[in-house]
Amino acid sequence: MSVMVQAENVYKSFGHVEVLKGINLEVATGEVFCLVGPSGSGKSTFLRCINHLEKVNAGRLSVDGQLVGYRQKGDKLYELKDSEVARQRREIGMVFQRFNLFPHMTALENVMEAPVQVKGESKATARERAVKLLDRVGLGDKAGNYPTQLSGGQQQRVAIARALAMEPKLMLFDEPTSALDPELVGDVLDVMRGLAEDGMTMIVVTHEMGFAREVGDSLVFMDEGVVVESGHPRDVLTNPQHDRTKSFLSKVL
Ligand code: ADP
Ligand code: MG
Repeated sequence: MSVMVQAENVYKSFGHVEVLKGINLEVATGEVFCLVGPSGSGKSTFLRCINHLEKVNAGRLSVDGQLVGYRQKGDKLYELKDSEVARQRREIGMVFQRFNLFPHMTALENVMEAPVQVKGESKATARERAVKLLDRVGLGDKAGNYPTQLSGGQQQRVAIARALAMEPKLMLFDEPTSALDPELVGDVLDVMRGLAEDGMTMIVVTHEMGFAREVGDSLVFMDEGVVVESGHPRDVLTNPQHDRTKSFLSKVL
């Protein structure tokens, strides 16, 4: 089993507020790793550390065997140059609660943008892939639509296609369905389920326990910056061991 993400004793504070207090976890390559917990427990902060949007204060965080943001020589750590950070970042796709599509670009242009601008890919190649990706997320007929001409669920599927266009080895989802009307949630989860079936490594922060149970390979329950409990989603969800997990699940299940 190869490891895609490893966190060893990861700490993160904002000023005097300690948000991550020694996170230890491991995400295997190809697995769907669900991260659940109450609001404010540090889930987003943890994802943001993986994707270089925040820097950890202590501990080791690595993706695919490489330290995030650092190189190790002997027992010394050196910060990576901006270009090296950019290279690490482009291998990770992230989907947020709010879709953040470029409003002045069509769905197709949104999906083409990063490969052309960041990777210097030709427009023809980027367009060909974008068309396929929009098809894959069920929006083949919406390529020419602007974000305002799409529902929230459709925008979120474009956002997923846009992240996939960079051919990431890891996808991070931060409550991707929380901002959607209930009837639009299913289509987004179906796209994520398809990605999982294709073997994508995914960390999914979600309150959709049905998705976690059916699609997840592992589930971690986090509270107040620590991992309280982890295991197979079915085990944790049906037989939680800790009071904090039980109390949380009684509210979301
Ligand atoms: P979750 O995603 O589990 O709801 P977050 O990671 O968003 O939790 O937040 C955890 C805690 O960290 C919260 O108390 C939040 O207010 C704080 N926090 C997050 N980002 C910042 C920031 N940039 N500056 C200060 N505090 C922050
Ligand atoms: Mg969050």
